[in-house]
Amino acid sequence: MDVTVENVIRTFGTTAALHGVSLDIRAGELIALLGPSGSGKTTLLRILAGLDVPTSGRVLFDSADALSLTVQERNVGLVFQSYALFRHMTVLENVGFGLQVRPRSRRPSRSEIKRRALELLDLVQLSGLEKRYPTQLSGGQRQRVAFARALAIEPRVLLLDEPFGALDAKVRRDLRRWLREIHDRTGHTTVFVTHDQEEALELADRIVVLNNGRIEQVGTPDEIYDAPNSPFVFSFIGESSTLPVRVKGGKVWFDDRRLDLPVRDLADGQGRLFLRPHDVEVVADDRDAITGVVTAVRRHGGSRRFELGVGETQERIEVELPSLAEQTVGSKISVLPQRWRIYR
Ligand code: ATP
Repeated sequence: MDVTVENVIRTFGTTAALHGVSLDIRAGELIALLGPSGSGKTTLLRILAGLDVPTSGRVLFDSADALSLTVQERNVGLVFQSYALFRHMTVLENVGFGLQVRPRSRRPSRSEIKRRALELLDLVQLSGLEKRYPTQLSGGQRQRVAFARALAIEPRVLLLDEPFGALDAKVRRDLRRWLREIHDRTGHTTVFVTHDQEEALELADRIVVLNNGRIEQVGTPDEIYDAPNSPFVFSFIGESSTLPVRVKGGKVWFDDRRLDLPVRDLADGQGRLFLRPHDVEVVADDRDAITGVVTAVRRHGGSRRFELGVGETQERIEVELPSLAEQTVGSKISVLPQRWRIYR
């Protein structure tokens, strides 16, 4: 199902949680709403679910007004960070719950509900656990039951709010892949909220980056990562360092050094160069590069991070080199960023 959000504004007293958000979600897409705390992700998801109403604007499900529909009428599948399973019900009963509480006219028979619940437990790889109670499951298993429960009602759209937020890093990573697989098999239009850029980059077909109640950028993970359209997106989507630079006649200058970076379509003037610590190439000292003295070294996973003081004002940037790098505090390093942007 297509979902269209048109100029949605949501204010709470004097706080504007959403400032006029417009978004087209295509049928079958897996969309990540990504942004820092307070950027409006949950508010937007709640509005899609029918748990909240916008102050103004429109929400359409397949071109029909959705705002006049109740949560039940919208037929959305919801999964939250906290599992919200019914503790007194078995796994099987939890999964069948959404069908069990339907009005009699639309309620499948008991045996049909059981059949569907078992089928979904198979899909989420929990076959054999149907008689257990939620307290007898791990966090990751509970969250998979919550997914099966959300899928049981054959939702028109699946809405997930930080579904893996409460789980440890390893389980989160496993469940991400699992969610992508389930999505590819079932094809539900899915919107999930996360503040974890890695999760969004790995999972989503398209990412919607929110900042202070506004959409900063919408794009595929590659578009967002390779061509962030603002300093906010650049620094939010991955690690970054920044330096003040000058553009003059198609060349970039830092202090009195010209940098060997090709700039096209950039008008003369001051700007800020953004670079990614792991996307730099170490070059010979005599190249037109950023040269600095190492002020600190630390391990970073399988590599080493070097903090450099560069230029007259000793601006600090970070670069990442293989763990065998021999440079230490006081060494001189010259680098050229491989992936970078200049913003005004
Ligand atoms: P988080 O990642 O912390 O959950 P979020 O991006 O989901 O953040 P929202 O929960 O949508 O952000 O909140 C957006 C803004 O709206 C925040 O400033 C928040 O304080 C405000 N807000 C949200 N719900 C309410 C409410 N019921 N009453 C008053 N203000 C609210």
